[in-house]
Amino acid sequence: MKPLLIGGEWVDTPQAVSNINPSDVSDIVDRYAQAGISETQSAVDAAAHAFPQWSRTTPQARHDILKATGDEILARKEEIGTLLSREEGKILREGIAETARAAHIFLFFAGEALRVTGDSLASVRPGIGVEVTREPVGVVSIITPWNFPIAIPAWKIAPALCFGNTVVFKPAELVPGCSWIIADILKRNGLPAGVLNLVMGRGSVVGQAMLDDERVDAVTFTGSIETGNRVAEACVRHMRKVQLEMGGKNPLVVLDDADLDVAVECAVDGSFYSTGQRCTASSRLIVTEGIHNRFIEALAERMRGLVVDHALKTETEIGPVVDAAQLEQDRNYIDGARNDGGNIRCGGGVLTRQTDGFFLEPTLITETHPHMRINREEVFGPVASVIRVRGYDEALAVANDTPFGLSAGICTTSLKHASHFKQNAEAGLVMVNLPTAGVDYHVPMGGRKRSSFGPREQGSYAREFFTEVKTAYTRP
Ligand code: NAD
Repeated sequence: MKPLLIGGEWVDTPQAVSNINPSDVSDIVDRYAQAGISETQSAVDAAAHAFPQWSRTTPQARHDILKATGDEILARKEEIGTLLSREEGKILREGIAETARAAHIFLFFAGEALRVTGDSLASVRPGIGVEVTREPVGVVSIITPWNFPIAIPAWKIAPALCFGNTVVFKPAELVPGCSWIIADILKRNGLPAGVLNLVMGRGSVVGQAMLDDERVDAVTFTGSIETGNRVAEACVRHMRKVQLEMGGKNPLVVLDDADLDVAVECAVDGSFYSTGQRCTASSRLIVTEGIHNRFIEALAERMRGLVVDHALKTETEIGPVVDAAQLEQDRNYIDGARNDGGNIRCGGGVLTRQTDGFFLEPTLITETHPHMRINREEVFGPVASVIRVRGYDEALAVANDTPFGLSAGICTTSLKHASHFKQNAEAGLVMVNLPTAGVDYHVPMGGRKRSSFGPREQGSYAREFFTEVKTAYTRP
């Protein structure tokens, strides 16, 4: 059993849960300890005690630990990437790439630890100096989803530690493996006791206990809108900082003048890779009528060749969905779209493979309308719907007609339309001739409307959430 990490000690619990491979349910990845309310409170206690000392460590000390952690993750990317693919179902190539990305995030924030700047200004009043400095926030609670088992923990843990905060971290129930490895690497690379505490367990128990604890100064959350709302309410009640990254219903607009091959590749990658289980997945393909039939034909042809199988097989392009509940949810959305008048142009069926896993055919639904449920709610599976529009203006209006605002893409060879779309898409991320999913680790990531709340994550912008600003006036 893999234990919890509290106050620098590995802690076993009476309960443990099995981490099951969605490509093969007979493959138990490992068993993981389960925290309850008292373990969570001990973890917050440890983080609160560790804060005064950790917040005063030198930038060099923080740099060295983050750098050593990034180096070790990078050196072990095949091994950790394989674990990731086993616990989440992402194909091996994607598992290794995500692991390398997590390593680079730690290396980026190792550098950021040396670049914590402030401002020094003259006062508007004579003889007074003004300094604006940044300080750590305190105890940060980190709550993560299952779909990026190492990248999302990395992009929250690395900046939290970089800026001198201490952490109580709760990974998603389905994917504790990569999180346990991060905790182990940080501990072995010299992170002092209590600075990062790992409490695996149920959201309704561990997550809720963190939200209820007065000593938590800030919460950074990625997950569904429903849980995000709950997190936000608790944080407002406690008047603490909160950062939420939630769902998407991301549009990919394909205009008549698009390069057809580019558009098809953007749709295949954005809609179906990582089994469509990305918050930035292209779930609405908004296609102008001049290219509509050619695009559908070419996309369906490409989809028929996609290999869906066990995530660790070298030829696999799309792995399983994450568990039985997600498979059921995906099928309900597909059935619902069919009942609402959509045409299942490609896929839609559950697949049987050598191993007992949750395999779903990538699914393309045509003849849909913006008001259908399939175009309003996040599916979170390898499912894309097509909306036919008359021209660019209608495409933009449909793209923005959603409560979400995470990522928006356009395929076009028109500079005029690309520029207009970049300025007018109501999204935090805009992609031109690129899939809606797939972002760099050194620039901000986040959305608008109901997709996100609070300051941006990643890149140098991460400091807005993980630091407090202080303004000091001095009369010498
Ligand atoms: P989820 O909301 O079910 O769970 C997210 C986390 O919250 C888990 O760790 C869970 O245990 C915890 N949790 C559950 N109940 C809680 C409670 N009462 N109090 C505190 N914590 C609680 O989401 P999920 O199914 O794991 O992830 C999928 C969702 O994540 C999708 O909606 C997806 O779009 C979103 N997501 C968003 C981004 C982004 O950057 N915008 C990135 C990845 C995933």
